[in-house]
Amino acid sequence: MTNSSSYDVVVIGAGFAGVTAARNLSAGGHSVLLLEARDRVGGRTRTAEAFGRQVELGGTYVHWTQPNVWHELQRHNIPLAPPLGIDTVYWLADGTVHSGSQHDYQNAVAPLAARFFADARACFPMPYDVTAVDNGAIEKETIASRLDALNLSAYDRDVLEGALATLVHSPGEQGVAQLLLWAATTFGDWGAFLETAGFWPIEGGTRRLLDAVLGESRAELRLSTPVTAIEDAGSGVLVTTGTGEQIRARSAVVALPLNTLGDVRITPDVPRPARAMIEQKQPVRSAKIWARVRGEIEPFCAFAPVGKNPVNTAKVEYRHDGDTLVVCFASGPSAVGAEDREGVQAALRTFVPGIEVRETAGHDWAGDPFSQGAWAHHRPGNLSGAVPLLREPHGRVHFAGGDIASVGVGGIEGAMETGAAAARDVAATLAGGPGAANRP
Ligand SMILES: Cc1cc2nc3c(=O)[nH]c(=O)nc-3n(C[C@H](O)[C@H](O)[C@H](O)COP(=O)(O)OP(=O)(O)OC[C@H]3O[C@@H](n4cnc5c(N)ncnc54)[C@H](O)[C@@H]3O)c2cc1C
Repeated sequence: MTNSSSYDVVVIGAGFAGVTAARNLSAGGHSVLLLEARDRVGGRTRTAEAFGRQVELGGTYVHWTQPNVWHELQRHNIPLAPPLGIDTVYWLADGTVHSGSQHDYQNAVAPLAARFFADARACFPMPYDVTAVDNGAIEKETIASRLDALNLSAYDRDVLEGALATLVHSPGEQGVAQLLLWAATTFGDWGAFLETAGFWPIEGGTRRLLDAVLGESRAELRLSTPVTAIEDAGSGVLVTTGTGEQIRARSAVVALPLNTLGDVRITPDVPRPARAMIEQKQPVRSAKIWARVRGEIEPFCAFAPVGKNPVNTAKVEYRHDGDTLVVCFASGPSAVGAEDREGVQAALRTFVPGIEVRETAGHDWAGDPFSQGAWAHHRPGNLSGAVPLLREPHGRVHFAGGDIASVGVGGIEGAMETGAAAARDVAATLAGGPGAANRP
């Protein structure tokens, strides 16, 4: 075991949350060490090369209604990349593939979504404060149990499940509360929420935004350095890496995916409900798969309920060298994986017979030890129970990450939101102030 020099702050995890925290703290004059397990920054965002062009293998879409993201995009003069217009929507419902214009599809979904999300704003009148209303009863519901309670016809249920299937891949485990919170951020309108969450990529990729933030950081960055233990010794923190190296700091920001927190020993332990949530893990194992399809085919979107087609959502995203790139979401590698070109092709042929998939690409986020899942969706009870506990300072240890955000939970916005909040709280603590302000 070796001892190295000490810092004001050690930030653990170089995704959007950790990079934002490290930038803010180092810009404030603190000495900061940013430790990252992988040999790259970006975490669950990954701008990569596939088919001879740039694609996003993880988190992609942002929106001008996301204050933290939009502020950084404006600051660095980075535009969004407007999506291709979609001509046709296919939806699998009651055993048949239906098709129509966007307008036709919205007419089918909107009344069902209005029923499903009827109480979204009442449950989360201030989405930035998830505990403002006692949602005890709502927090017991899963998405599946709410769907059951609506007593829909087979057709309507499939339409609604298909419309949710961009973000819902394990409805029996995902709490309904998070879905209602998301809808509440767009005034209870699920269609509007989906536009904020799934349409607008960043020109030049998420890596461009991350590099812009990192470019302003004075933190020392160490890649390929997994952390195995964090101890708050009262007068400071002791961080242990996979090689046994011990690093001292006055405070730590832990910006790790929820599903990897169980691999890091935290002393003293986090409150019991938070520990239970860490052990349970969040259930989203979804797969995002890029398919290069022969020819410049008509731009389309397609939706199918989980379990009724291996690909649940597909959307034409780009033209490329005379071909078309389609982005697909599946409930996980067990449904279909990025290595299974024929399986992806068969799943897309449910919607577009004869479509020819030439190549596929993706990243196995569920199998990756440093994510162990995709975007976060909390189990019943956790969104307003255990999650806010992790937003509280834990002695000299502060947590951050999209997985534990309030308004932006599950996304890049939430990562930046919590990274900035943790940096603010740490700076206050280091200045000898009262520590955390209210972080609902
Ligand atoms: C397929 C997919 C699609 C998505 N689509 C969108 C989208 O379109 N829009 C959107 O807003 N969000 C999307 N998300 C979610 C978004 O990517 C995440 O919410 C966000 O990137 C999380 O950032 P973070 O910094 O909190 O965590 P991460 O990005 O996961 O960063 C955590 C970092 O910690 C590192 N780490 C892990 N363990 C250790 C350890 N022991 N020691 C040191 N470092 C460690 C990891 O390597 C990683 O770099 C998507 C996610 C996935 C997987």
